[in-house]
Amino acid sequence: MQKEITMLDVHKIREDFPILKREVNGKPLVYFDNAATSQTPQVVIDTIVEYYSNYNANIHRGVHTLSQVATDAYELARKKVQEHFNAQHIHEIILTSGTTHSINIVATGFTNFLSKGDEVIVSALEHHSNIVPWQMLCDRTGAVLKVIPMNEDGELLMDVYDDLLSDKTKLVFVNHISNALGTINPIEEIIGKAHKVGAAVLIDGAQSCPHVKPDVQALDADFYVASAHKLCGPTGVGLLYGKEEWLNKLPPYQGGGEMIDQVTFEKTTYAGLPHKFEAGTPNICGGIAFGAALDYMNSIGFDNIASYENELLEYGTKKLLEIEGLKIYGTSKNKTSVISFNLENIHPYDVGTIVDKLGIAVRTGHHCAQPIMDFYKIPGTIRASFSFYNTKEEIDALVEAVKKAKMMLS
Ligand SMILES: *Cc1c(COP(=O)(O)O)cnc(C)c1O
Repeated sequence: MQKEITMLDVHKIREDFPILKREVNGKPLVYFDNAATSQTPQVVIDTIVEYYSNYNANIHRGVHTLSQVATDAYELARKKVQEHFNAQHIHEIILTSGTTHSINIVATGFTNFLSKGDEVIVSALEHHSNIVPWQMLCDRTGAVLKVIPMNEDGELLMDVYDDLLSDKTKLVFVNHISNALGTINPIEEIIGKAHKVGAAVLIDGAQSCPHVKPDVQALDADFYVASAHKLCGPTGVGLLYGKEEWLNKLPPYQGGGEMIDQVTFEKTTYAGLPHKFEAGTPNICGGIAFGAALDYMNSIGFDNIASYENELLEYGTKKLLEIEGLKIYGTSKNKTSVISFNLENIHPYDVGTIVDKLGIAVRTGHHCAQPIMDFYKIPGTIRASFSFYNTKEEIDALVEAVKKAKMMLS
């Protein structure tokens, strides 16, 4: 049967990304490290240049014209983020430096809400930035960290999750999509069950946002975090979405300018949301460019992105598995365009080095998810992660490069 034709013209889209025209080691760049960071389209680059060329000024402070223009642009970006994630209120969107910063705001904020014997639940599939801040929280409070285990396919064992939940559970934090394996976790179910025992849930959306458009109200997430740089935006900016009631309860994370109402040496009162969590001069240009990146991705459409990336995933999986001795880690039915693999008896780093010589950027190593590598008892994997601007021809180039690496290394 004829496959459904995607409404996405990849050759036209590639024209939007200047970096895709360059060569690496004398070969056309094939960029398959999208799970680490995405590439930047010209409209986002133009937004950054326009900011520094025309209206660079500090925000929320001056009455002068430039400051007002910059403030309006920054607050418009916040509005775009609110609309994209479908938050109920604009002040529920805190602009941060990224996922890691956002998680630390929440993990630090919970210090006063947990005590010895309370429990918090994480999944076996997490990025280090959704593990370590919570371990630090447990160290401060005496709370206990429980882990939802995974199976060989890289799927969470949901019946064990049921057993872990109790009235001691105060917080659950899982990623929506695993950066190391691509598994899509059943977060609706995870959130629903946590709420039944009165626990709050933080969803790490760093890896899902490039592929799907999350609706924080429909999900009923208490917190949802992501980074702009995986969404065609710049580095150093991201978001913390939190339900208003939670953000009002949490203490500020950092003290400084912008987050205050009144300051005297006797007592300082804090600003309201969202400024309470935005101490100091933020990444103004980055925030504005984040808004432009969301506009760009929405102009392509997340349904189109998801269906095209699925085609790439199917094609890449099939082609790579034709190589003898190649094993794919993360074989969940429900996954995005990330393929983590190894060649039998060959170190992933050696494959990555040869593949790079051929102009292909893949990630090798533990992908900031050492517990997953420990589960499979491997030092790491080679990870090819596809974006909507990649092509099947590029996958063919990867397959040839991996075959070549295999020949040279075995
Ligand atoms: C990339 C990533 C992070 C960390 O994001 P930063 O932008 O480095 O803060 C956290 N979790 C997941 C799932 C990620 O993919």
